Amino acid sequence: MVERRLLLVGICIALAAMTLLPLRYQRYQIATGSMAPTLLGEHRRCACSRCGSPVVVGSAAPDCFKAHCPNCGHSDLPLAQAPDQPGDVVSVDRWAYSLASPKRWDVVLFQRGEESWVKRIAGLPGETVEIRDGDVWIDGVRSRKSFGELPSMQQELFDDAYSPHGIDASRRWERDPRGELVGGRPMLDGRDGSQTWIYARFLFDERQYRPFVDEYAYEGSSRADAEPVHDFIADLDLTVLHADGNLRVALTDGSDVIEASISLTNAGSLKVRTRPDSFEGKEAPALKLSTVRMTPWRGGETRRVTVAFVDRRFHIACDGQPIGDAIDLPDAASREPVVRPLRLTIERGCVRVDRFRLSRDVHYRPQGMAGQAVRLGSGEYFVLGDHSPVAEDSRTWLDPAIRRRDLLGRVLDLKRPRSFGAPN
Ligand SMILES: [Zn+2]
Repeated sequence: MVERRLLLVGICIALAAMTLLPLRYQRYQIATGSMAPTLLGEHRRCACSRCGSPVVVGSAAPDCFKAHCPNCGHSDLPLAQAPDQPGDVVSVDRWAYSLASPKRWDVVLFQRGEESWVKRIAGLPGETVEIRDGDVWIDGVRSRKSFGELPSMQQELFDDAYSPHGIDASRRWERDPRGELVGGRPMLDGRDGSQTWIYARFLFDERQYRPFVDEYAYEGSSRADAEPVHDFIADLDLTVLHADGNLRVALTDGSDVIEASISLTNAGSLKVRTRPDSFEGKEAPALKLSTVRMTPWRGGETRRVTVAFVDRRFHIACDGQPIGDAIDLPDAASREPVVRPLRLTIERGCVRVDRFRLSRDVHYRPQGMAGQAVRLGSGEYFVLGDHSPVAEDSRTWLDPAIRRRDLLGRVLDLKRPRSFGAPN
């Protein structure tokens, strides 16, 4: 008897789930590239014929076939032979905001006029929103992301798993006093004295060093008005071959250098220093020093170290887990274009780089609202596309606000770069 009742309850639950789930989750197909590369509209994809890196270009881009590989700069890509692919299909949780309020950086589906749109929330009810220096400012303060918020907005710049063939790629790594690249990757060897490696953006075809800019392969040809970007994330898979001394990992945003000094001995401590100059110039003494403990690093052990200097905030993580608190820097008067974002210094020990990936945060352009602030009323949201140079969004609309009643749900299953945080 009890078993029959349990069976009946089970059947009722299954029937309720089958009836309700389609009501809760809606499939939605992305039509345009305004959220690229996070979400793709109709597009073509190919593997770069020089380095093998995947390249994705919007089919509607006016210069679709003039795209460059973002990884190696190659322009002769087999895009013409690639078929048009439909836009991404995403799941939308229509009940997401029944109980909880929308959060900053949520990607939402909403109604505007006759159409449905997908954008990212940047401003919340009652806030004053500005776009300055590539970032979103809320009530006069730069909005800073948590470590967990970085992946969904991360834009990949370089992955050394895709090595261009037929080219000497060693000019990307500047070494002092010397150093060996093994399979195109640095062997950091400080056993005969310290060694410094600096990663630079070197364009093979132009034979020039150039700053990182807000380019999107998705647009096809490069933009003449590309803006320098400042917020970088580096992922390094590191194997300790000789556990002695320190490894220092530094990032610059064009104004300051933040350097994490990782002890490779059993003490296992991590010190983070802040310096007020880019490492392309002369460095000033450390301004700030914070020390946290990390688990000791054994010889032969491989770990993924992630450092991020985004929104004037520094994060360091080991195997996807943040170590210590994020470090915030005050606003800089100005930030120079960055050619060399990452520096590695080894003292006494020996560490092999097994993989290196560099990415950046979304660089927001002010577009129509340069020098202006938008004040949101109660129940109003400010939304932005991730593909900032071309997206139509709250920056360009006459009425910038989206009302809460027009939000149709939260977009799930966003693309996450494979590289970020967690080990393979
Ligand atoms: Zn390439």
